[in-house]
Amino acid sequence: MDEFALIKKFFGTDADAKTPVGSGDVAQGCALSLGADGVITAIGDDCAVLELPAGKQLVVSIDTMLEGVHFPEGAPGFDVGTRVLCGALSDLAAMGAHPLWFTLALTLPRVSTDWLKAFSSGLRSVARQFNCTLVGGDTTKGPLCITVQVHGSVQPGASLLRSGAVVGDDIFVSECLGDGAAALALMNNQLEVDAAAGEYLLNRFYRPQPQILLGQQLVGIASAAIDVSDGLLADLGHVCTASGVGATVDLGAVPTHPSWNAKVTQQQQWQWALKGGDDYQLLFTVPPNKVAQLNKKGLPVQKIGCLVEGSGVSVAHLSEPMDFTADGYNHFG
Ligand code: ADP
Ligand code: MG
Repeated sequence: MDEFALIKKFFGTDADAKTPVGSGDVAQGCALSLGADGVITAIGDDCAVLELPAGKQLVVSIDTMLEGVHFPEGAPGFDVGTRVLCGALSDLAAMGAHPLWFTLALTLPRVSTDWLKAFSSGLRSVARQFNCTLVGGDTTKGPLCITVQVHGSVQPGASLLRSGAVVGDDIFVSECLGDGAAALALMNNQLEVDAAAGEYLLNRFYRPQPQILLGQQLVGIASAAIDVSDGLLADLGHVCTASGVGATVDLGAVPTHPSWNAKVTQQQQWQWALKGGDDYQLLFTVPPNKVAQLNKKGLPVQKIGCLVEGSGVSVAHLSEPMDFTADGYNHFG
């Protein structure tokens, strides 16, 4: 199968996907162009032509995932597809944006129709869930590498930025932290949990649900937001730097998941929750006069600290001294 047949079969329109490709090879309907709003011309021309909803601003982000770096070598195609799109959409969530479209740059070592079919189904399941349409891409040969660029919309001026936090604001996170690191430990045989917990963790690793609805609900409430992809301390550090403030985190308030937290030492729990990456939860700050408005929404969020004068992140209520420098994952570090 050549490049063009591959694109048509796995990433084209539903109609394309029903067209037989090659000798006796009937496509399985994994195509991704879902025919969403604002798509004037999608896959098949030199560019996609897209129409932004009237009066909205465009929000764009791009993410690359490499085999052996962002997902294990030999990971199932479906899981790789869900992970790349969930991870990319998490950035839109952090801006309070509404997902619209995505493009896909795919570098493949070889054409495996089984892998591609699974990969495109994985992508499609997330694309459907968040109503985000594949509108174009690029396909090349080389070591497995996937880049996804997501496009979303916001009301003018409504984006949740890293730079809006103010001294005195409270710091919140959504759901639990440390799942990404715990999942990695599980995959590396460094953590033993029961089958249900194992399933929970692998699901969190391969399908880290982008907090799109939460992000949208935080518009007008949060003063700053970021998604936790490099680790809580590192990402909170980014908010502090961008906003010119310092932060204090109350270690006892950092939420971790019962599927694994009792299986490791307290120190390990804190390391994974504070320094592990890949959680894709939202970390956000809320001015004191908006906290009641946040609480009224009954969202699954937890207050973990507050912003203070100065710079950098400090961790309070430690029963044992720990070395918590705010270094997250850094590809060239
Ligand atoms: P060009 O040479 O003009 O850059 P290509 O031959 O690379 O165009 O791609 C042809 C069409 O197929 C374009 O519309 C492009 O967006 C789309 N396309 C290529 N690869 C992918 C992919 N992996 N996923 C989705 N669309 C793709
Ligand atoms: Mg061209």
